[in-house]
This record gives sequence, C-alpha cells and structure tokens, in this order.
Amino acid sequence: MRKGLLVLFAALLAAGACQAPKGNEKDIADHVIIIGLDGWGTWSFEKGDTPFIKEKMKEGSWTLYKRTVRPSISGPNWAAMMNGTPVEISGITGNEKEPTFKPLVQTEHKAQPTFFHLMRQVRPDAETGVVCEWGDFQNYADTLCVSYKKKIDGPSEHPDAIVEESAKYIKEKKPVICFIHIDALDHMGHSYGQGSAEYMAELPKVDDRVRRIVESAKEAGIYDDTIFIISSDHGHEGYGHGGDTTNEIETPFVIWGKGVKKNHEITEPMVQYDMAATVAKIFHLKTPNSWRGVPMDVFE
Ligand SMILES: [Zn+2]
Repeated sequence: MRKGLLVLFAALLAAGACQAPKGNEKDIADHVIIIGLDGWGTWSFEKGDTPFIKEKMKEGSWTLYKRTVRPSISGPNWAAMMNGTPVEISGITGNEKEPTFKPLVQTEHKAQPTFFHLMRQVRPDAETGVVCEWGDFQNYADTLCVSYKKKIDGPSEHPDAIVEESAKYIKEKKPVICFIHIDALDHMGHSYGQGSAEYMAELPKVDDRVRRIVESAKEAGIYDDTIFIISSDHGHEGYGHGGDTTNEIETPFVIWGKGVKKNHEITEPMVQYDMAATVAKIFHLKTPNSWRGVPMDVFE
C-alpha cells in the first residue's frame, strides 16, 4: 500500500514536471519575412535559373508540391496563406474585395482572422507590414491589423521599386512579420505563357530581387533572428490559371532561418493554409477553431 502511494506521488510529480509552461514560451524567431512570388509554378522549378532560392532551400526546408486552394487564382490563395482556412470557411473564392459568400467567422473588421490579427491581439505594438505590387493583396491581410501597408507600382514600370521599398521598411522598422508580394512572374505567364522564354528569363531577375530583400535583413541587423519564407499562390497553364491542372495547382514553398531544419525536404502534404499555421507556430499564436491549417514539421 505504502509503496503504491509512493509510486502514485512519483507519477504525479513527473506529470507536473512535464507540463509545458503556459504563455511564456520563447518564440522560435523574432522576425518572419515572407516573400510571395505571384504565379511561380513548380513546373518552372527544375529548369528555372534561381540560384539564390536553390541555395537557401539547402539551408532550410522546402516542398515543391504545395497545393493551391480552389480556384487556382490569386485572391483565395494569398488569403488562405494568411487566414489559415479553406475557401469554404473564408468565403474568399475570387479576387474581389469582399468575400463571395459570408465567412463562417469574422473579426471586428469583418474579415477571417489572419496571423496579422492574431499577432495584433497578443502584441498590439508589434510592427507588422505588407508591401505589394498587386494592390488587392492588401484585402486579404486584414490591413486594419498591420502597422504598415504599401502598394508599389507594377513590375513592368519599376521592377526594382519592390526591393527598394521592402528594404527600406525592413531596415527602418525591423518588422516582426512582413509579407512582400512580387508580381513579375504572373505578368510573364499571362503575357507570354507558361513555359515561354520570357517567363524563364524573368526567373533569375526575381531570384535576384529576393536576394536583395534578404540582404536588407542583414543590413538591419536582424538576419540571425529571422525566419524567411518564399511562397507562391498558383502556377499557370497556357496563358492563364484558375483550373485544376498540375501546372496550375502546384507551387514551391521554401523556409529557412533561425530554428528551421536544414537540408530538409518536407514530405508531408501541404496546402496554402498550412503556411498560416506555420507562421502562427513561430510566435506560439493561439489559432482559432476555424483554422484548418497544420504547422509544417520544419523546426529543429
Ligand atoms: Zn496570382
């Protein structure tokens, strides 16, 4: 009997000792910089001349088979990457400013809660920002919850403006979460077609813009405390997208930086809304029940 009690006490002590501390877990990184490449399809990856991105894959984790939500157009897919839900919950099935049908859950801003919203709730002073070449991108971030938002002129007129504005913001504000949207590849896909020489020629230029934005984090002195993500909303088939072909629905996802597994190919299935859950995990943000995204197993 006495021995039994001792065993019980020991078990209770062990259970207590194993409980994770609540509310004071250290974040995996202090900053997340996400660079979204509109229209970067996996079909272009193997032959694509993107030396910087390919180097960073080896320094981090990646999959080439992240799946779009339907339809394979920009709005629903950028939205899912930020709000953690499939379109059946968010109601965002198009590129319009308002959801196509009523979202199942809405914040006080009448939007599906994004990771920007979750961050604003727990850390109201955290610096967060969106810099984008497609102005409507802002609709999906719930920008009432971000500290900074900036629409940059399109890539055809000022291809370097996105780099300059993003670098300036990163160096001046050292954001906790920053989402940058680069539109050039999507323009090439629509103008010249999937597989065109023009699209392929744009890849190294976009790769270099990504490199320069990442360099700005070094100049800001935050590189070692940052996790970087490169993602995409959809690919192309012919001169467009929106359908269900592999060329349209498969996009790459690359993540590297503080606390991220190195030289690790993600083999678990990944859908756009899993990116939101992965970002939330970095900061231990409690995700709402409406979220369906699962954090990817990419942390050391
Ligand atoms: Zn797009």
